Amino acid sequence: MAIKKNVNNKKPGNFVRLGLFWAIIVFGVLLGVAYLSPKNNLKEVPISSVISRANDGKIAKLEIQGNEVRVTPEGSDKPTEISTKQDSSIQEQGLKSDASVELSVLAPSTIGEFIFSLATVIVPMVLILAVFIFIMRQAQGQNNQAMGFGKSKAKLYGIDKEKVVFGDVAGNDSAKQDLQEVVDFLKHPKKYEALGAKIPRGVLLVGSPGTGKTLLARAVAGEANVPFFSISGSEFVEMFVGVGASRVRDLFAKAKKNAPSIIFIDEIDAVGRRRGSGMGGGHDEREQTLNQILVEMDGFETGANVIVLTATNRADVLDPALLRPGRFDRRTNIMLPERKDRAAILKVHFKKKPVDATVNIEALAAKTAGSSGADLANIANEAAIIAAGHSAKKISNVDLTEAFEKIAIGPERKAKIMNDKEKELTAYHEAGHAIVGHVLPDSDPVHKVTIIPRGVTGGVTWFLPPEDKSYTSIIEFKDILARALGGRVAEKIIYGKDYITTGAGSDLRKATEIARDMIIEQGMGTKLRDQVFHEDNGGMVFDRMTHERPYSDDTAKEIDKEVAELIKESAKRAESVIVSNRASLDKLAKALLEEETLEEDRVVDILKDTVLPEEAKLY
Ligand code: ADP
Ligand code: MG
Ligand code: ZN
Repeated sequence: MAIKKNVNNKKPGNFVRLGLFWAIIVFGVLLGVAYLSPKNNLKEVPISSVISRANDGKIAKLEIQGNEVRVTPEGSDKPTEISTKQDSSIQEQGLKSDASVELSVLAPSTIGEFIFSLATVIVPMVLILAVFIFIMRQAQGQNNQAMGFGKSKAKLYGIDKEKVVFGDVAGNDSAKQDLQEVVDFLKHPKKYEALGAKIPRGVLLVGSPGTGKTLLARAVAGEANVPFFSISGSEFVEMFVGVGASRVRDLFAKAKKNAPSIIFIDEIDAVGRRRGSGMGGGHDEREQTLNQILVEMDGFETGANVIVLTATNRADVLDPALLRPGRFDRRTNIMLPERKDRAAILKVHFKKKPVDATVNIEALAAKTAGSSGADLANIANEAAIIAAGHSAKKISNVDLTEAFEKIAIGPERKAKIMNDKEKELTAYHEAGHAIVGHVLPDSDPVHKVTIIPRGVTGGVTWFLPPEDKSYTSIIEFKDILARALGGRVAEKIIYGKDYITTGAGSDLRKATEIARDMIIEQGMGTKLRDQVFHEDNGGMVFDRMTHERPYSDDTAKEIDKEVAELIKESAKRAESVIVSNRASLDKLAKALLEEETLEEDRVVDILKDTVLPEEAKLY
């Protein structure tokens, strides 16, 4: 397609350039002629002085051509000066009839006139014409573009182009199993038809961003060895009305022509959101595009060996019509990778990177709970960049750890200057988090504490679960709340309640978020137990304005009260832990001031004398 368009454009483009080229040549030649013409070597003088000198006999010859007067002074054999007379004759302007000057009147120069008219009329005309043609071509080019707009920009990942196979996708075993079936349909359709099985039309891949949905779709095409047409939902929504639908038509036509093939519509939620639920305006285009997708999917003749894969991270907002049988009725959920899958993904991404013997991928996999495949790929890449930065030949575990920490909490900002007072405050603040987390029985262990600023924070206390967890209990939540408040509580105990700082702002925000989530979403309140007060708006911002809150004002007050109580209770528990272990707190803060960063073992060693006070116990 694209190549053809270029060929079309080539000739007229050259024509315009040719026109401009000649216009410039002609203009240049005329300028040259004008410059070289003799009058330019002559000195301009006023006509009055010419006449008075002629009357005095100081001029030998005057040549008059039109209004131009060429002057040859006495003693000279050719004109050296030039002047311009008025329309009247030179005698009328004061030349005495007895003046000893040779007068010759020449016919107006036709060549001069010709050149003059060329210069003043034809050149601008040629230029205007060229500009005009140029503008016309430009407009037409836009027309061409507008006409080509309906053609989808679907990229064809050819069979030979950077092929991805299932082996490149680590983990995701159940998704791969589901998709293996799709591969088999594409490869051996006869086998299924013989048994009267209908080949699935659409497969919906659902998963958080970066979990490898796009990668999996490409791997299906690679495994089946068929052409892969991919387009992103957001590309449909670009610009002109009516274009989305024609793009869909074109995309499906292309895929059918190349069958067996795969169509991949990435981020389908951009066009596939539930219809008729938003506020008016701007939705027609989307709906038409969506309708066209549905029409095309229904219109597959049996035997058309095209499978439509689509991906989204918001399956909850999709239009139910998309999910009906015969459309995207197969659904494959792609989960965030578990520990062993994270190790496998890391291995894939370190396959082509030289690492030394210190690198411990298993340990990194253990630390990265909640990371997506894309996050892990990012860590691997960052590690390589860090190693290259200090000109190492191989990536070491130190580079790996730095990459991980950089991505998890932002780069170290060693350059940021803290005064001694702030440094001490940060040390006590972080020690407060660490000690509360260490002492409370259901908190994750401390992984690392540092007072080196990172990202936006002043210091970091880092807790890591020893293994992957899917659920969090109410007791664990309460310990998380207490340790989140531990920083501010420690500040209060050391410096007094009137010396609290902004250093705890993000801790408090996080704590409040967790507490609200416990009450509203998880049914973990004291009075409001086992009930959820969550406003399900399907992710549509506008619906929030039209829907009533699904609970009464009294309940709203009760929610606020429960949240406040949770926070208060947690602050009390943190306080009792810190007060009962004051000596350990001082020791930890002192170690932080001296060493700046403490690893897990060191923290455990410093805090070995801590005790769990009675008031902090939940059971
Ligand atoms: P999604 O489409 O789900 O947002 P992508 O498929 O675009 O995610 O994944 C982004 C990148 O993350 C991939 O290009 C790949 O480098 C990496 N990645 C994600 N999941 C995996 C995996 N399971 N195995 C290997 N690499 C992965
Ligand atoms: Mg994607
Ligand atoms: Zn803090």
